[in-house]
Amino acid sequence: MPEPEPVPAEPPGEYPCPCCGYRTFPVPKEEAMAFICPVCFWENDIFDSEEDDPSDENHGMTLRQGRENYRKWGAVRPDFLRYVRPPRPEEIPRGQT
Ligand SMILES: [Zn+2]
Repeated sequence: MPEPEPVPAEPPGEYPCPCCGYRTFPVPKEEAMAFICPVCFWENDIFDSEEDDPSDENHGMTLRQGRENYRKWGAVRPDFLRYVRPPRPEEIPRGQT
């Protein structure tokens, strides 16, 4: 019996996360229903367009708060730090090092 092909844990990212900016989204954010960014643990809210709108998916956190928290802690909430991983090189937006 041949070994089954290993299934990738996550689809490759193409589109930037609205919170941390790394390209972790496999589809545009408008289509990424309930996608949770593996780098910052922001849960995508496809209906949320304003960065100061409280996000139901993120328990009322706004995108602006999520970004500040990611910069401060490395995740949108400090208790999410154990779930996140560092961005992969290919996820870093072009033009940044
Ligand atoms: Zn993110």
